[in-house]
Amino acid sequence: MIRKFFKRMFAKPAGLGKDNAGKPTHLNLGSRNKAAASYTVHKPKVWGVAEHKIDRRLVSHNAIRVCETLQAKGYKAFVVGGAVRDLLLGMRPKDFDVATDASPEQTQRLFRRARIIGRRFQIVHVMFGPETIETSTFRALTTGNSDTDEHGRVLRDNEFGRQDEDASRRDFTVNAMYYDPSTETVWDYHHGMEDLRAKTLRMIGEPAVRYREDPVRMLRVVRFAAKLNFNIEPATYAPIASMSDLLRNVPASRLFDEMLKLLMSGSALACLKGLRQAGLHHGVFPLLDAILEDEAGEAFLTEALARTDRRVHEGKPLSPGFLFACLLWHLVLENWEKRVKAGEVKFPALFAAMDEVLAEQAERTAIPRRLTGDMREIWAFQPRFEKRAGKAPFRMLEQQKFRAALDFFELRALVGNADPELARWWREFSDGESSNRQALLDKLRGSPQGDAGGTSSKKRRRRRKPKAAGAGQPPSGEAQ
Ligand code: ATP
Ligand code: MG
Repeated sequence: MIRKFFKRMFAKPAGLGKDNAGKPTHLNLGSRNKAAASYTVHKPKVWGVAEHKIDRRLVSHNAIRVCETLQAKGYKAFVVGGAVRDLLLGMRPKDFDVATDASPEQTQRLFRRARIIGRRFQIVHVMFGPETIETSTFRALTTGNSDTDEHGRVLRDNEFGRQDEDASRRDFTVNAMYYDPSTETVWDYHHGMEDLRAKTLRMIGEPAVRYREDPVRMLRVVRFAAKLNFNIEPATYAPIASMSDLLRNVPASRLFDEMLKLLMSGSALACLKGLRQAGLHHGVFPLLDAILEDEAGEAFLTEALARTDRRVHEGKPLSPGFLFACLLWHLVLENWEKRVKAGEVKFPALFAAMDEVLAEQAERTAIPRRLTGDMREIWAFQPRFEKRAGKAPFRMLEQQKFRAALDFFELRALVGNADPELARWWREFSDGESSNRQALLDKLRGSPQGDAGGTSSKKRRRRRKPKAAGAGQPPSGEAQ
């Protein structure tokens, strides 16, 4: 009897962890008896290395270190989520997440450089030089009551639970596998391996319920399908068409984060096509629709995104500011053209157009200020490429955003939105030796095509095919 009592006292039931001294401590399990009906927990299938074939050399040493440190203290710890999925696909994961039954405080205490972040969803960032291992405590199933907005979106998510519950709360079956680097086993709760082999994205639980809890999952399914080249299982795809409006309730900053992930996934083009197919683009970028339907805008965007995808695959750095400048350029251009036609002065009109477009976007997608700063600089440079007189070109070279702005100008030239000759000249000017630079400028003065006074020559402009609205040259007129 007494033994039984002690056993019960010191057994480690669901959601219990041990603190550093080895004493069991209770985690907040909240009102878990009211778990939503759409969730069921499953027993895991445990795969050995012969079956899962994960190459341990692709696993971050730091992630292994986090798992081993936690395990040495008697906690469970696994690499989890996208990293396991990518490892199973033979890809090198871009980052590593760890899941454990230790609480955030217990985890933090075990590492020299670790901090707890987030309020609604606390996780621990364990830092090793440039690498951060996001370590989260197993989450309990969502309770059916409270903590949701009026549309059912889950607002609070800090109830700790068991590993099988944690697995049921993840989004897709292929994202719900746990890799233990010590035993080299994969714990698969929802037939993720089967779906992974069939290249299928399948939502865990009732898809409509899961989208209501978190509408961003609709964007995630499109992103993963594009990035992994997976099919979306029909029942997972079906509710999206009628639920896309729910994205309107998602905080703008979260939408921005997701949009950035989408654009930097290496499959940005495929992602945007996927968004359009699923009818999701309205909710994310209110004007994406207009951009994608405008022929000229689409050519520019397609080129910009193809270039972005190439850079991701080549492992080159990407500038989010540049990306967003591309995304919104045609809106700025149209707005600018309208203003100039209405008699506004060229440069102030461009600034007013930038302000208006950014203000419209701010309502839905919170583009951070540091990015809008970069975007403005890149845009504001564009008409300056038309002026090649005096010392101005040398001054432009010295400016921080010059290279990005020139890349942007070249991109425009590629799709007939700027003068290709001018773009070539600037590239030569920018990459050349300083003595050659002056020669390039001197040559302009003598040449009939020289534009030392201002914009590109009328002769060249007349030769170009007329384009649909928004497709042609930006307002040129005399530089003012
Ligand atoms: P990647 O990092 O390649 O974009 P990922 O699958 O690792 O993909 P993360 O956003 O890093 O995506 O999330 C890590 C894991 O957390 C996911 O694999 C999934 O198990 C879980 N997860 C993330 N977001 C959600 C969500 N909105 N709903 C349910 N589970 C989620
Ligand atoms: Mg990840």
